[in-house]
Amino acid sequence: MTLYNTLTRRKETFAPIAAAAGLYACGPTVYSPAHIGNMRSYLFTDWLRRALIFGGYTPKHVMNITDVGHLTDDGDAGEDKLQKAAREKKLDPWAIAASVTARFFADADALNIQRPEVVCKATDHIPQMIAFVEGLLEKGHGYETSDGIYFDIATFPGYGKLSRLDLDAQVAGARVEVNPEKRNPFDFALWKKAPREHIMQWDSPWGKGYPGWHIECSAMGLQYLGERFDIHTGGIDHLPVHHENEIAQDEALLGHPMVNTWMHGEFLLIDGGKMSKSLGNLYTLGDLEERGYPPMAYRYFCAGAHYRSKLNFTWDGMDAAKTAYNRLLAAVRAHRGGTGNASVEPYAAQMRDAVLDDLNIPKAVGALWTMARQPERTQAVYDAALAIDRVLGLRLDDAGPAAGQSGPDTLPEGIRALVDARQAAKANRDYPEADRIRGELKGLGYELTDTKEGVVCKKIS
Ligand SMILES: [Zn+2]
Repeated sequence: MTLYNTLTRRKETFAPIAAAAGLYACGPTVYSPAHIGNMRSYLFTDWLRRALIFGGYTPKHVMNITDVGHLTDDGDAGEDKLQKAAREKKLDPWAIAASVTARFFADADALNIQRPEVVCKATDHIPQMIAFVEGLLEKGHGYETSDGIYFDIATFPGYGKLSRLDLDAQVAGARVEVNPEKRNPFDFALWKKAPREHIMQWDSPWGKGYPGWHIECSAMGLQYLGERFDIHTGGIDHLPVHHENEIAQDEALLGHPMVNTWMHGEFLLIDGGKMSKSLGNLYTLGDLEERGYPPMAYRYFCAGAHYRSKLNFTWDGMDAAKTAYNRLLAAVRAHRGGTGNASVEPYAAQMRDAVLDDLNIPKAVGALWTMARQPERTQAVYDAALAIDRVLGLRLDDAGPAAGQSGPDTLPEGIRALVDARQAAKANRDYPEADRIRGELKGLGYELTDTKEGVVCKKIS
């Protein structure tokens, strides 16, 4: 398996350090619901996790929940995002964190994103973060100011290596420094002293306060994956500040790198531009559902671009993805039980090679289409599609009944084939044919209902 390492700017053959492949993924900051751009990043990590399993590795996947310390500007200026949301909504920050976290996992489930082995909240690991900061201070990598403890980047010559930042050029540039007590504009907060109104605060050797955002991931990565682990993922927006700072903290404390491979998912653009609250184009999965696009159609949409490419979201693109996804399901399922002789092995090899080649999901989907489009109905095509779906996660085997309903798998063969044929007709917008088949099923004693989750077929008693 090869993976592209942002640190070396190269594709590298993956060789895990130990039996379990350690994977740390920067998780959500739970102050407001995740938008579809955030979810694209978690889909990327899910494809990575699934490809690791497919490649024969056993991942130990750790994801944090940032429920304190992430400031409004990603650096160490501004206000804590949760504190701000709590103030604006006149709610308790703990309640906001709990409800946004629950919604995040509901969205992840709807997208068929697998749960990590470890989900860890920042607020549950304050002692580990304090110990990490104390370790950095003991080694001379930090200093105290009136508002917190800062990392002194002058003590870490490797600073900027991930983003290949030219520090001198940056410092000489027009960056306005808001904090005159900092020795270098790139020094960053390890720990912030809390103003009295800050609701989330803890005792520390430096008085009451709360952790910086970057120390959270360093401390929890160390806690669950140890001093050296395999892969760290995040969005491309994490690269220049958050991950650069994590590397500085890790290596300053340990004296060696903690992470072998850094991987980053590219941005989702909206109508060719940036998403922003002020433009009103921060869509959530719920917004998509309201407009008639099921979550799985969004997963399929994201499968159309490599994770290292920008992906442009448009409603037309979403329309096309929804139609294509339904057609793919129909095309694959039409092969179930088929006794034909369609070609399988060359496509199976192409799909396998693609997903193990730095997660080339779009290429695998392309090969899947070519295989499924073959006219001869062949069970082996269906089996091969299901095998690669362990990575793609497109729920190719689920004929779409709502949970708990009598699904096509419990239906007699002939009925199941009719349901599939009707879905295929519907996906192809051949509505007269779809209606005809629905009538035929009714004549045979079966009723079809279209639900939000898909079609449900029930025997009329
Ligand atoms: Zn992180």
